[in-house]
Amino acid sequence: MSYVGPEFEPPRVPRRSVLRRPLVVALAALVPGVLAGWLAYGAVGGGSGGDDGGGRATAPVSDTPSAHSTATAGADDKGAAPLKGRVVVIDPGHNPANVRHTAEINRPVDIGTHRKECDTTGTSTNSGYAEAAFTLDVAHRLRTLLQAQGATVKLTQDGDRPYGPCVDERARIGNAAHADAVVSIHADGSATGNRGFHVILPGAVHAGEADTRPIVAPSRALGTALADDFARVTGSARSNYLGGGTGLVTRTDLGGLNLSTVPKVFIECGNMRDSKDAALLTSGAWRQQAALGMSEGIVSFLRG
Ligand SMILES: [Zn+2]
Repeated sequence: MSYVGPEFEPPRVPRRSVLRRPLVVALAALVPGVLAGWLAYGAVGGGSGGDDGGGRATAPVSDTPSAHSTATAGADDKGAAPLKGRVVVIDPGHNPANVRHTAEINRPVDIGTHRKECDTTGTSTNSGYAEAAFTLDVAHRLRTLLQAQGATVKLTQDGDRPYGPCVDERARIGNAAHADAVVSIHADGSATGNRGFHVILPGAVHAGEADTRPIVAPSRALGTALADDFARVTGSARSNYLGGGTGLVTRTDLGGLNLSTVPKVFIECGNMRDSKDAALLTSGAWRQQAALGMSEGIVSFLRG
């Protein structure tokens, strides 16, 4: 979806991923075969966070869940299931069938601060690859990665509904699941030349049904971890048009965030209307890396 203009953001907090160094060292003794992959992986992805404007997919690519997630799991004292008992809700933005239900998705719903349309169709690339198809594909890949680490994963929709759900229901699904983390997956529809990803954090809202004050801080922690790991794993740059280079944007006008009572962020993985970003978004191999980056960020957040 397209969003309103740039907002000032304070400088990023120090990266959490420095905590990974001992993990890599520990792995050296345990799984030498995997270590080689980790070292190569860190060498290409562990730098500045990718603010090079290039959006290059420099990390190794794969269309299947890779050894990276297994390595992370194996280093935990819970063995192969570090996320056992944790609940993650994935919200694939929009719905491929929304285009056939415009009356229903235009119906206003209460998001606390005001009323807003139930849902939108989302954007697409210039060649017609729909954002809703992208979000569902990445959600499936992310679900597989998180389940492999023991998480209980729920999707707000799985292409199994005639439209929606509406943004208020998307929020309530995460709340009802008592999710430890919710990630809403999107891709933006902005002007050509606007590139890179950004993570949208809930601002403090206290109006009507909405009270985000308790989730602002944990959502920022989730979003920061997500942005760091997404940049590292995909090699993509942080947005060059929103967030002042941080890749983080705070908003108070999204029902999916306003009505959440659990830590939640959106991620706009790239700009579908830019041809270079579109080339990444339409690649299955890149989408696998995108899902891997998200799973690593969620693991970082949940393990503190
Ligand atoms: Zn969207």
